[in-house]
Amino acid sequence: ATPMAIMVGTGRGATQGILIRNAETLELFEKVDTLLVDKTGTLTEGKPSLTTLLPVEGFNETTLLRIVASLENASEHPLASAITKAAHERQIDLLAVLDFQSHTGRGVVGTIEGQRVVVGNEALLHSFDIVISSGDQTESLRGEGKTVLFAAQGDRFIGLLAVADPIKESAQEALRQFRDSGIRVIMVTGDNQTTASAIASLLDIPFEAGLSPQKKAEIVERYQSQGAIVAMAGDGINDAPALAQAHVGIAMGTGTGVALETGGIVLLCGDLRGIVKARRLSQRTMSNIR
Ligand code: ADP
Ligand code: MG
Repeated sequence: ATPMAIMVGTGRGATQGILIRNAETLELFEKVDTLLVDKTGTLTEGKPSLTTLLPVEGFNETTLLRIVASLENASEHPLASAITKAAHERQIDLLAVLDFQSHTGRGVVGTIEGQRVVVGNEALLHSFDIVISSGDQTESLRGEGKTVLFAAQGDRFIGLLAVADPIKESAQEALRQFRDSGIRVIMVTGDNQTTASAIASLLDIPFEAGLSPQKKAEIVERYQSQGAIVAMAGDGINDAPALAQAHVGIAMGTGTGVALETGGIVLLCGDLRGIVKARRLSQRTMSNIR
């Protein structure tokens, strides 16, 4: 490719909020036939809100939310901001946290008032030998597309929280455009099977759920080994390995510094339709060169 055509192409992208890191990315993008998309923050708005607090006996909503929000206050995950926002709205004072640890794609751990607190998915609580007793509330909340978080204090399960994250308004239209362009789309998510299935069926796309960040990268690799040219779009809280593995990593503009550095393409406004625009830009640039 000539440097001039590439400069024109990347310049045109920039005016539309599409940042293309280098010539190689622009050249490769027209060949993309498979697009893997993260759920949270990519297909959904990534601005979840707390819908449900179910404390166990001995706790009330306020005491449960205080403990959980205190811990989540140190996390940068979108789920965490939903929880701290809810605590703020209810004017709940937060407690001090020691030894904060983030377990990527699973949840958070810390010490509050001398007791270990764990908030996250089932796998995280199980890894601390905590038994979750939540009846069948969990599955019905997940069936509504909500993400359920479990909380424990010491060795004891103290309640669950559910968070809803609406699908982006632009997502349906973007998916239609991908189909029209002959790109297959698969949702990949760290969220659980039932929640993922509820969202995927609203969008009518295939999905793989319960994935660690590393597993997402392995799925990219699997499609690549079948000969696909793969783009991966993610908000990047923990999609960095998959973004790096893909032929073209697409960082959504709402994402973190990590993803912005990893992405070959950055969509500043987080609108998936920018992917179709970027691909057209790539096609036009390459045909100008040929
Ligand atoms: P996605 O692939 O949808 O972006 P993530 O990989 O970021 O999801 O997270 C996977 C799961 O890990 C979440 O659905 C949640 O159950 C749990 N999790 C991750 N971060 C946190 C956190 N800060 N607090 C509680 N749970 C978390
Ligand atoms: Mg994510």
